[in-house]
Amino acid sequence: MSSVKVGFYGHVRQYHNLKSEIDAAIHEVLESGSYVMGPKVKQFEKDLAAYCHAKEAVGVNSGTDALWLVMMALGIGPGDEVITTSNTFFATAEAIWIAGATAVFVDCDARTCNIDVSLIEAAITPRTKAIVPVHLYGQPAEMRAVAEIARKRNLFVIEDNAQALGARGPDFRLGQLSDAMCTSFIIQKNLGCFGDGGAVVTDRADIAEAVLRLRNHGSVKRSVHSMGYNSRLDDLHAAVLSVKLRQLDKWNDQRRSFARKYDEGLKGTSLKLPTALADYRHIYHLYVVETDRRDSLQEYLKQREITALTHYPIAIHQQEGFPWGKSERIAGSLKNAEASAARVLSLPMFPELTGEEAQAVIDTVVAWDNQNKGHETRAKGQGAHR
Ligand SMILES: *Cc1c(COP(=O)(O)O)cnc(C)c1O
Repeated sequence: MSSVKVGFYGHVRQYHNLKSEIDAAIHEVLESGSYVMGPKVKQFEKDLAAYCHAKEAVGVNSGTDALWLVMMALGIGPGDEVITTSNTFFATAEAIWIAGATAVFVDCDARTCNIDVSLIEAAITPRTKAIVPVHLYGQPAEMRAVAEIARKRNLFVIEDNAQALGARGPDFRLGQLSDAMCTSFIIQKNLGCFGDGGAVVTDRADIAEAVLRLRNHGSVKRSVHSMGYNSRLDDLHAAVLSVKLRQLDKWNDQRRSFARKYDEGLKGTSLKLPTALADYRHIYHLYVVETDRRDSLQEYLKQREITALTHYPIAIHQQEGFPWGKSERIAGSLKNAEASAARVLSLPMFPELTGEEAQAVIDTVVAWDNQNKGHETRAKGQGAHR
């Protein structure tokens, strides 16, 4: 057994690989004196809109802010319901709560962990205003079906695309079939800056204008305000993001090739491996396996200096204090979300992995699985004697 230490992120390696370009971009901003709402933010917004084939992109302070600022722009607030999933990062629900609206959770599809589109219609009430599909782990939700329900029932669609920038469906781009798409640039995302950042990407000029105003104290003209907030993207981050955006497709391809390596190396094990839907470009923000003995596998890897993390071990409706606004509710059962919380484990997955590291992960997981098979056989044997 190899003893290769494998971390969970490649941030510093990524910086070193692009050091001269990133340092030059940062230096240019420092010398320019334009640190807030300057030309680098405008340039990055142009770059991002072009990358997404969208009309507008507006930089904001975080993915969370992007989500609730879009809800505010659409007039979603107290008394309104927003349908989403419970097995996502907490911020998806938090954004709905900040907007003053009520989250309604439907279950996920056990294959992909994305929203089960067959359950959405039953969750709709006269108060429902929007659906927030999350492209979890880097795989697009089934947006054609979501968009069709929204069209029929006159609902908004806001994509939580914090995890899948650069992914696409078989016949749709992300951002194409919704009112707006929200993304995050915190470092662990596929496109990350050196702090907090986020963006709203949209074809709707009215949403872009509203978010531009809301992010800057309700002001687009000096000294003239309507109520808003302070949620700006800094020029330093924007300059770095423009440099990194040019690498994103290559990085995502590297993630995809490590995913193929994991798929191949782990296919004989007892683990449930990630399901990539046919013709979807899954960009493996996370490579998530499932097993009933998740904690055992995580601990086994940890003892061998391989970091594996859980996304997310507590579903939102299982968090303490639920329902925070007293009215959040579960539509039907969330059995798949709950099973996923108990079973998921994310293996190291980042573009700067080495082949040797990926192989060490595979070998260690396979060794655990062989031991685990022994464990299961013993457990069965004991059962037979009882
Ligand atoms: C990271 C993330 C967010 C929040 O983004 P921040 O920039 O951290 O506010 C929202 N939703 C999902 C699914 C995320 O992964």
